Amino acid sequence: MPDASMERRSAPIIILLLVAALVLTIGLWAREKAALTSAQHSRIAGDASQGASQSQDRYEWKMVTTWPKNFPGLGLAAENLARYVDEMSGGRLTIRVYGAGEIVPALEVFDAVSQGVADAGHGAAYYWKGKIPSSVFFTSVPFGMNAQEMNGWLHHGGGLELWREVYAPYNLVPYTGGSTGVQMAGWYNRPIDSIEDLKGLKMRIPGLAGEVYASAGGTAVRIAGGELYTSMQTGVIDALEWVGPYNDLAFGFQEVARYYYYPGWHEPGAMLEFIVNKESLEALPQDLQAIVEYAARAANQEMLDEYTARNNAALQRLINEHGVELRKLPDDVLMALWRGTRQALDDLVEKDPIAAKVYASYREFYKGVRNYHHISEQAYINIRDDVLGDEDY
Ligand code: CA
Repeated sequence: MPDASMERRSAPIIILLLVAALVLTIGLWAREKAALTSAQHSRIAGDASQGASQSQDRYEWKMVTTWPKNFPGLGLAAENLARYVDEMSGGRLTIRVYGAGEIVPALEVFDAVSQGVADAGHGAAYYWKGKIPSSVFFTSVPFGMNAQEMNGWLHHGGGLELWREVYAPYNLVPYTGGSTGVQMAGWYNRPIDSIEDLKGLKMRIPGLAGEVYASAGGTAVRIAGGELYTSMQTGVIDALEWVGPYNDLAFGFQEVARYYYYPGWHEPGAMLEFIVNKESLEALPQDLQAIVEYAARAANQEMLDEYTARNNAALQRLINEHGVELRKLPDDVLMALWRGTRQALDDLVEKDPIAAKVYASYREFYKGVRNYHHISEQAYINIRDDVLGDEDY
């Protein structure tokens, strides 16, 4: 029987042996790991070199749009995306842009890309409201979030993930495709002094706002941009909303309507969409897929920047050169439109469980961002007007 002192003496030796065994095990494991990593690395390198040979492959996409070819603002987003992708990929992916009606009519863009007639499309999600009721939240809803808030929700608040989930059954991957910022309430051939004046008025106004408008006694009509001027000129419609001064001036609406109303209660931050056919996207190597993602993000921001820069000059021309009468919608009309919006939202989420899911996310984000913007953006805009008044900066 070993005595206690012997046990005490051997304890440090046992610990030393254990440590040595551990060091040896770690050493062997590390060598094995290093060998494995190196094998993995060469496999990745092999993939990369294979990727490099793949990367010499060239891809050409067709992009159909809901706008006339090379149309200012809205139409330029598609051209910008094509240019960014071409420049970033060194010409490995080129996107040929087709205006409305060149391959398919404006309002068939969704189906064309879904079915692979075209690889990509540019338009607005709410154009597909008949097929996908929840799509209105991805463009703009009356009295909803502005451009900055929409970008926040979509890119950092789970909105884009939901959008992709909603479009997945249609074989489509959506991307944010540019924002117009707050739009104008629209062009009218007679003044709107009370909610009664909306009764019987035929207006081109898409999305959920169309339903709100109908509940106020008007008739909402869905017409693509390219047909609006003639529709207004020939009296098919009495009023229309399109975008804002920069785009509306280019369309020439000042020639067919006298009254130009603000604010754009119905589209406070209209977000456009790029849509890509899933198979077309997955046929690209990873780096080109990433280029599509980042080019879309850049084209998205570029549109808002352009509208911010150009709207005021266009508005001044509409007023000073074309004699357009600029008017604000009366507060009681806006309150009535909000009551109609509340009802339209309730009806929408009751009828469609997917819309209810998207609405829950939109609503939660809006609540938080509105709370913060109350003391940031909103407080600042109010205070700068109070402080500067009519003085130039
Ligand atoms: Ca609009």
